[in-house]
Amino acid sequence: MPTENKKPILPVEVDYDTYRRFDQRKNVFGRMIHDIDADFHKVGMFDLVKEIIDENVEGYTHIDFARVRGAWAVYDHFHEAFGWDESADANTVMEEATLDKYEVDDKEKMAKLVKETAGIYGACKAGITEVNHDWLYSRDMNGKPIDIPEEYKNAVVMLIKIDKEALEESPSMVAGAQNALGYSRMAFVIGCMARFIRTLGYKAIPMGNDTALSIPLAVQAGLGEMGRNGLLITPEFGPAVKICKVFTDLPLASDEPRDFGIAGYCKKCKRCADTCEVDAISSEDEPSYQTVSESNNPGIKRWAVDVDRCYKFWVGNGGDCSSCISECIFTKG
Ligand code: SF4
Ligand code: SF4
Repeated sequence: MPTENKKPILPVEVDYDTYRRFDQRKNVFGRMIHDIDADFHKVGMFDLVKEIIDENVEGYTHIDFARVRGAWAVYDHFHEAFGWDESADANTVMEEATLDKYEVDDKEKMAKLVKETAGIYGACKAGITEVNHDWLYSRDMNGKPIDIPEEYKNAVVMLIKIDKEALEESPSMVAGAQNALGYSRMAFVIGCMARFIRTLGYKAIPMGNDTALSIPLAVQAGLGEMGRNGLLITPEFGPAVKICKVFTDLPLASDEPRDFGIAGYCKKCKRCADTCEVDAISSEDEPSYQTVSESNNPGIKRWAVDVDRCYKFWVGNGGDCSSCISECIFTKG
């Protein structure tokens, strides 16, 4: 059931009678592992890479693929970035300082400091919102229930910019390497932000794509709107961003969701739908509550993306695709 906390006014409609917290095992990667009825069950994104590399096509060579894998390295290995507590064996030669808890007497000023700090660590933009438990996954990829203690009242939502020139090479591995780098930069930024907050004497839970849905939190934090392609569209960078977040008990002033007019623009634009090679993006004029994939969570008014088609395209492509990102009018500016 949806939780009782305050329902934010979003520039997207939610039917709270239908909406239920999403089980992460129902996204395409979860269904690839768990859903025996999915026609991509146990079909990995890189299963066809060897055959693809053997064809030696530009943008799909062994070198290109190695760049993709290299770019994932930090995200794949830096698990402590995602821990609720900093690893006991963190490798530092410096003594821990014993400090008093930082007193926050001005939540607006603290929010500004946190956003500046996010920029120092590499986020292109940050926003702050109250943690809305409706956006928490009900269960994680392993089926473990997710519960965040109430003391974590605020979410620091941070955006990582993806190089839009490289994305123009989509769907080749050249663009895939930039996407992977975005994930590794997420790990870096949330790891740094969590330690910054803990050094002030507060708690922090750093998150990549895990634990909670990133897009509604980013919308709530006033960073953009959900577009036809199912992604966060920001006014500055379009959908060419990755989203990461840190939940904390640090007192912070919240940003408000904003109507930038992006979803209204999507009603007429349809450029991403025309671009998608497998018709995974709706061309309907108006968003609706209709779902088209087991991975679409009911109860949200939007253009539902057929993520099954999208994922199967990725498998045949030997890696992810960003064509609906690079072609978005807001990416192109
Ligand atoms: S990522 Fe590629 S395949 Fe998937 S919806 Fe976008 S354009 Fe289509
Ligand atoms: S390409 Fe056009 S329709 Fe698609 S998300 Fe961008 S603005 Fe919206």
